Amino acid sequence: MMHLNDKVPEKIGRIAELAYNLWWSWTPEARGLFRRLDYPLWRKTLHNPVQMLQEISPAKLHQAAQDSTFIRQYNKVMMLFDETMNNNGTWFHETYPDLGDKTIAYFSFEFGLHNSLPIYSGGLGILSGDHAKEASDLGLPFVGVGFMYPQGYFRQRLPSHGWQEAVYQQLDISQAPVLPVLDGNGHEIRISVNLAGRPVHARIWHVRVGRNPLFLLDTDVDENEPWDRELSARLYSGDSETRIRQEIMLGIGGVRALRVLGINPSIWHMNEGHSAFLILECIRELVAQGKNFEEASSIISKRSVFTTHTPVPAGHDAFSFHLVEQYFNGYWDELGISREHFLGLGGHEEEWGMAFNMTVLALRLSGLSNGVSKLHGEVSREMWQEVWPSNSADDVPISSITNGVHVPTWIAGEIHNIFDKYIGPGWLKEHDNSKIWLRLAEAPDEELWLVHLALKRKLMGFLRERVRSRWVNGSNDPTQVLTSGTLLDPEALTIGFARRFATYKRATLIFRDLERLQRILLDIHRPVQIVFAGKAHPADEPGKSLIQHIYNLAKHNQLGGRIAFVEDYNMHMARYLTQGVDVWLNNPRRPREASGTSGMKAAINGIPNLSILDGWWVEGYNGANGWAIGDEREFDNQDAQDEYDANSIYQLLEDEIVPLYYDRDRDGIPRGWVEIMRESIRSNAPMFGTRRMIKEYTTELYVKAILASEATPA
Ligand SMILES: *Cc1c(COP(=O)(O)O)cnc(C)c1O
Repeated sequence: MMHLNDKVPEKIGRIAELAYNLWWSWTPEARGLFRRLDYPLWRKTLHNPVQMLQEISPAKLHQAAQDSTFIRQYNKVMMLFDETMNNNGTWFHETYPDLGDKTIAYFSFEFGLHNSLPIYSGGLGILSGDHAKEASDLGLPFVGVGFMYPQGYFRQRLPSHGWQEAVYQQLDISQAPVLPVLDGNGHEIRISVNLAGRPVHARIWHVRVGRNPLFLLDTDVDENEPWDRELSARLYSGDSETRIRQEIMLGIGGVRALRVLGINPSIWHMNEGHSAFLILECIRELVAQGKNFEEASSIISKRSVFTTHTPVPAGHDAFSFHLVEQYFNGYWDELGISREHFLGLGGHEEEWGMAFNMTVLALRLSGLSNGVSKLHGEVSREMWQEVWPSNSADDVPISSITNGVHVPTWIAGEIHNIFDKYIGPGWLKEHDNSKIWLRLAEAPDEELWLVHLALKRKLMGFLRERVRSRWVNGSNDPTQVLTSGTLLDPEALTIGFARRFATYKRATLIFRDLERLQRILLDIHRPVQIVFAGKAHPADEPGKSLIQHIYNLAKHNQLGGRIAFVEDYNMHMARYLTQGVDVWLNNPRRPREASGTSGMKAAINGIPNLSILDGWWVEGYNGANGWAIGDEREFDNQDAQDEYDANSIYQLLEDEIVPLYYDRDRDGIPRGWVEIMRESIRSNAPMFGTRRMIKEYTTELYVKAILASEATPA
């Protein structure tokens, strides 16, 4: 930030401070300020104000500092910023006035905050990012801990054969909204952990997420051996040894980082099992102070909260005992327990034999655990019943808190304006109150529809511009120009499908009966088109083959250009897609989708879901706000299930969705359709925001844990 301070004229001197607090990204007034500063550069940097301030010409900055309209807007934004940062009347202050001095530490392997900080791969990361933002909005005393991955997750390239290629790009950290944590002498702070007999060091990056800090560990420092420097280079790449080393760094190193910073959390929240070693480190600290293992673990477990995120067994990290011994040999002595006792903490029978399972470790040692939707809670209680052998599945202590999305991040500006106008400018403050949404009835059909069409055009323009600029820059072949959305018809009913290409999500389900689909897509009067996007994990060959399959169909002229596959799905694209298509499709194999959140983003923007009754949609679907594929039946035979569900998709499209979409009145408005759009917002916006979610985490988990741990003083 220092280097920018010299460049920026005094009158707008705090604009760098604003750029380094991601609060700007979910505050329309602040976004507007950067956009106004230099619109071409704003677009070129993909909305990255840090990069923008580095690249902007000093003349432009001076011009802005002379422009009274800009100054007025700047002053207004800074006032709002200061009010937000210093607000002592937040929901948390008012609800829990005595708990202001507590700190909730939230650990996650990935954080999806903004595309200028690419340290996420998918749903888990987006959820962590949204969680952190809402924690700031509600005034929670909160600190996040994660990794700075200088190469992030991979960028996806689709050559003309359609087999996904992974490209890793070195992030220019100076252009990311992160600053190193320094000690009093201006030196970078270091922490270290012992990895199989050798200390590995990490620096700490500070990200400002509204009122709260997020600290990111980074092992790319001079003191480390080359292999160790690479440890935090990439997210989810590498073998299980890299993974256990990363998890030791996150769990144990993360606790040490907070201690070095003088932060002593009251609550330790593990978002997914990756960070579960943190509990062992907290226990070790107490054992070092003279407690025995039982006493220490009983104290720490009362302060520990664990959230599990998937019912898919492979989604739970398990390490061979051999590997665990290699890294923890000696550590169990410090805990005052035996090797057998230690291995037993995570012991779990995997398909390939007994192993150390991070979810089991977290479940055993956390006082409170939860799944991420009601159905996922049920499935998790069954799945992990063996951890509580004397309980029936119903009594397994895993509760559920259904996921949500951070509304200010995911709502389109144009929809935001409609809410301002018809619900009232205070709608965001109380958007988890379902009563206020009744006022949406006052928004005229015409207005909702026109705004939706504008967002749809924006999406099509975004897709075309991406392909065009890639093509012009010589990195693209004509096939890609064809498959990436240039043939899409802005008038046609547009279905969106964007997610990770894990096989249980059944991306190709809609192609099961190609002829029937062809008839639906190619209807001359009522055409339908589908936009796909998503990455497969670099080691997931079946996932990559699904992508290739769809890519080949997109090339095929028999489908008439009605299928597009857009490469390199990320948060930036997710905003355009979930705001600009007509229907959001989701067809996982029930009950594998723990929650899903992209459908929530669509729903609050008035885009109805067409989805399997899995994850959040079992709770969201009310018969009038979208469509349910199939029913809640689960077949033993996967092929029969696929047949049944695909048939249901075709039937819904043929009998309900397509006719309703094209049923226009004399003004060209599809009244029945707009009614579903409106109901999608009205019913889902109060329920599936992080506003409702964080209040539940606070009341059901954080505050309960604080009270439990205070009842038994250390
Ligand atoms: C919201 C989001 C996700 C999560 O989507 P699911 O519905 O859980 O599949 C994944 N990736 C990106 C980039 C997102 O924005």
